[in-house]
Amino acid sequence: MLHPTAGTTMTSAKTSCSVCGEFIAVHMHALCNACGLPYHLNQRNDIPGDDCGQVWINEEFLSLEFACNTCLAPPVETGSLDDILEAGEAAEAFALPQSTLVSAAEAGALRHRKTASGVYLFQRGDVADFARRRG
Ligand SMILES: [Zn+2]
Ligand SMILES: [Zn+2]
Repeated sequence: MLHPTAGTTMTSAKTSCSVCGEFIAVHMHALCNACGLPYHLNQRNDIPGDDCGQVWINEEFLSLEFACNTCLAPPVETGSLDDILEAGEAAEAFALPQSTLVSAAEAGALRHRKTASGVYLFQRGDVADFARRRG
């Protein structure tokens, strides 16, 4: 069940890690089952090295499963913290009065979270929808 590219990178002495970009020594070489790219995985307890992924045993098939950190923690496109705007930022980003956003939130017309200190937080996409709906 190896990825089609697995055989090509296995023999290369100058393989670089898909996660951190550093050279991978032979004892650190592993291939991710998800993306097929090489990453650092220390397979020797007697030589130090940092892992850029994990390996574990699939209990069902009793096979080793490899996954690099990129696949284990894919970059989040939506719902990342960059996506969260407080009312002032949202107002500025979409050229809407802050009071409009807040009253829409209070009226239930705009998804939001009100923090304990009374700050309204919005997701960029929701504010964009709201701005579009207003025309
Ligand atoms: Zn690495
Ligand atoms: Zn991967």
